[in-house]
Amino acid sequence: MHKPQSHISRRAFVLGGLAATVAGPSFGATSRREDLIDFPLIDNHSHLIPKSLTRRYGSDPEDIIKAMDAAGIKRMVLVGFGDEIPELPKRYPGRFVAAYIRYNFRWRQDRRFRRIIPPEQMIVDGSTPQEVDAISAEFEDALSTGLYNALGEVTTIANPIHKGRQQAPFPGSNVSPDSPLVLRLMELAAKFDLPINIHCEAAAADEMVQAVSKRRKARVIWAHTGSYLDPTRIASLLEEHPNLDFDLSSKNRLYQQRSGSFLSFGKLAQSWRQLFEQFPDRFYFGVDFLLPDHWRQASAIGEYAYSILEQLTPPTARKIGYANAVRSYRLDP
Ligand SMILES: [Zn+2]
Repeated sequence: MHKPQSHISRRAFVLGGLAATVAGPSFGATSRREDLIDFPLIDNHSHLIPKSLTRRYGSDPEDIIKAMDAAGIKRMVLVGFGDEIPELPKRYPGRFVAAYIRYNFRWRQDRRFRRIIPPEQMIVDGSTPQEVDAISAEFEDALSTGLYNALGEVTTIANPIHKGRQQAPFPGSNVSPDSPLVLRLMELAAKFDLPINIHCEAAAADEMVQAVSKRRKARVIWAHTGSYLDPTRIASLLEEHPNLDFDLSSKNRLYQQRSGSFLSFGKLAQSWRQLFEQFPDRFYFGVDFLLPDHWRQASAIGEYAYSILEQLTPPTARKIGYANAVRSYRLDP
């Protein structure tokens, strides 16, 4: 899908970041690369698709470790998928954190996945009592093992992903964040005192706000900063909803080429910068690594991540890149 970055454009990338730092911020000194290396960067939102599920799109944990090293990422919260994830924190100490979601909600609503997902684990739209009971029981069993530090990524309202003309699109999701199923999962998040990572398009923001308001005890991390919410809207949501945080995954110009990234010619947009400095405790760095194509771009993605962090003040960069995740996922520092 993406072409690998050429050396020239990658250099421009880095120089762009440096130029922005030199240009002079209004929030005090920005971070230097040395300060950022001083803390171990945590990616709070990426995925492992097991090879046992699909050889074509799947990855091995070793591929991920290599990509993390290339990107300068120390630890990764795996927000899906499959049965191997809870074993990885033990197998690779200090590198992985497990969140529970066995199958993507997109897959659970798509008949093409009936081959791998048992019928009772499929989802219609998150509203029937049968699916609410079956899926929430599955989550509760998993969380009771104590092997998980979060729930998610729970994909609620999501657009299909188109991958070229010949291929059928990757399915979307029509489960509302305000559906009985997701409200029940938020109750479980509160019960186990773990954050729940939820994907919901900006177009369904009102439903997300309803859900967050109904379940104040659940700590909700809204993935991808609400996909395309603008900084002004995010600021008012943060003011109004103390149980709502945002992750920065896929706000990356290698993923979102048209809009939605924070940088323009290497400079962090002032509106985003202000937002991060105003609410430094409410954002989490993340990538949303998913496909082998993404792992192959790891060093460019890491360069991008560091170029954003170094345009923030050191305390904010440290919180967003590391400390907020340690606090919320209750990790050993
Ligand atoms: Zn994701």
